[in-house]
Amino acid sequence: MFNNKKFNRNKLRYFIYYGLLAAMIIFIANEYMSGLKSQHIKYSDFINDINQNKISEVQISRDKLIIIPKSQDETDRGKVLYTERIEDPNLIEKLNNAKIQYGGVPQENTVLKGFFVNWVLPFIIIAFLLQLFLGKLNKKMGSGVMSFGKNTAKIYAENETGVNFKDVAGQEEAKESLVEIVDFLHNSQRYVDIGARLPKGALLVGPPGTGKTLLAKAVAGEAKVPFFSISGSAFVEMFVGMGAARVRDLFQQAQEKAPCIVFIDEIDAIGKSRDGNIAGNDEREQTLNQLLAEMDGFDSSRGVVILAATNRPEVLDKALLRPGRFDRRVIVDRPDLKGREDILKVHIKGVKVSPDVDLNDIAKATPGAVGADLANIINEAALRAVKNHRVEVRQEDLEEAVEVIVAGKEKKDRILSPGEKQQVAFHEVGHALVAALLKHTDPVHKITIVPRTMGALGYTMQLPEEEKYLNTKEEMMDQICVMLGGRSAEEVRFNSISTGASNDIERATRVARSMVTMYGMTERFDMMGLESIQNKYLDGRPIQNYSAETASIIDEETLKIIRKSHEKSKTILKDNMELLVIISKKLIEKETLMGDEFMGIIREYKEKKDGGASDSEALLPDSHNI
Ligand code: ADP
Ligand code: MG
Ligand code: ZN
Repeated sequence: MFNNKKFNRNKLRYFIYYGLLAAMIIFIANEYMSGLKSQHIKYSDFINDINQNKISEVQISRDKLIIIPKSQDETDRGKVLYTERIEDPNLIEKLNNAKIQYGGVPQENTVLKGFFVNWVLPFIIIAFLLQLFLGKLNKKMGSGVMSFGKNTAKIYAENETGVNFKDVAGQEEAKESLVEIVDFLHNSQRYVDIGARLPKGALLVGPPGTGKTLLAKAVAGEAKVPFFSISGSAFVEMFVGMGAARVRDLFQQAQEKAPCIVFIDEIDAIGKSRDGNIAGNDEREQTLNQLLAEMDGFDSSRGVVILAATNRPEVLDKALLRPGRFDRRVIVDRPDLKGREDILKVHIKGVKVSPDVDLNDIAKATPGAVGADLANIINEAALRAVKNHRVEVRQEDLEEAVEVIVAGKEKKDRILSPGEKQQVAFHEVGHALVAALLKHTDPVHKITIVPRTMGALGYTMQLPEEEKYLNTKEEMMDQICVMLGGRSAEEVRFNSISTGASNDIERATRVARSMVTMYGMTERFDMMGLESIQNKYLDGRPIQNYSAETASIIDEETLKIIRKSHEKSKTILKDNMELLVIISKKLIEKETLMGDEFMGIIREYKEKKDGGASDSEALLPDSHNI
């Protein structure tokens, strides 16, 4: 929470609000309670009661008589009556005659005690409850409905983030560009002396989970300066004007603590371009304007650096990006093979591992994974080791963890019927065999028909031998063939098809379509750009830049690619039917085949064939180019 010792105006206001509210509640409660406890009666009724001997005691105060009746039934117990004190010279005599005890109101401490019991105690309790209740409410609603003036609610300040650059692996370029900021925070005077305009802010851009937040903390940790962080969405308040007030507050706090780092996470929540949406969001616009004004206004020579993170840089308002604001962009992209290995190394520290663990293998198995995924994999592996009563993590734990992340947990209780098992096995082997027999494909790592929680009844895992940054047209065509290989195997073997290929179909279509619309890989459209990806870092939808007529031609071209690939994989499998059957049987028997087992079967089969006739033509990798 915010460690600001100053009792600032906001806090005072906040205190008064709650105080008044509590006092009101207590006042009403006291009135109500005293109404319950005591009841007014007329003086004449009082005299009647004396005569009827209904009274046990009377306390005489300055202006009223408090009457304690003899308790007659259970419900009446504790109820006190009172009446106003009227000049009645005979009262004492009447009381004496009726043998009723009387006296003044017992005085010891009552005023003080009454005050304490009726006011102070409830006040404390109610203030406490309000605090608790509203605090919860605020948290639940994300932003405070009732947080009057509670501007500092979502600002987190840490004097020591405890994170260093060495905790952030695989982001060397990003770190390099941030080193300068660290240095600047260290020796701002040197920069001032030479007359350099100091950087005000840097924008960390990249997909979710790549370590943007972590990097920002690491900058603060390296520079040993306080770290103020707030999420962009926390600015967007329910009450108009609150967001702007928060921005003002944030910068005020930061300047008091300079040198320091202010980090605005998910800045796209407020930094969205102002033009373009007709409806407009006044509150957000105000907040953004305030942010721009503050960024211009503060004196960077005092050593306040503003970092912000986003995974949607394209929606940001241009004004945020111009020089003097977030003039630097630091790309925090998905880590490559080496980066992934380094990240795994960072996270495996503190985890007991057996000597057989090879993180390079795991890094190879996780193309496209970001830091958050990798951290998760290590943790899953450790959990699995504990579950299996081991004291150290083995390679198999890590491998299983990768699969859990990719495909969900194993579902051992889902029993496939023998028929289904056959269908799934042939389907998977179809993928694998097409992959093995085509030239431009990644090697098969594993084939399994153990169902997983994420819906797959089986799957084939391919692993690239090395990180790829470019895909050729041939590779993409072959990839599509592999994706369609599952269904093709069902067709050539059973002459019947199942629903099991829906995901394959979706993926294959996506690749085929992108060949047409984005990569200029068809003759029909040559190098015409038809779609562009709007949101590079989230799996955003493409923007379509074509007419309705073109749309139908695109569909045709996509279909052409798919048809061709489908035919190709069917041909491959028909030509290698024997092998398809052998491997599928093996898979049904063992449920999981590793890549080398799989290749072993193929090799063995091929050698046997070679020994006999020279009919091995079908097995030569490149024999099916169409
Ligand atoms: P982002 O802000 O980019 O969405 P985070 O910084 O919140 O991602 O990363 C989430 C978690 O993933 C971190 O707390 C860390 O454990 C792990 N992580 C992500 N990237 C890295 C990295 N490059 N090196 C080490 N750990 C990482
Ligand atoms: Mg983040
Ligand atoms: Zn499939």
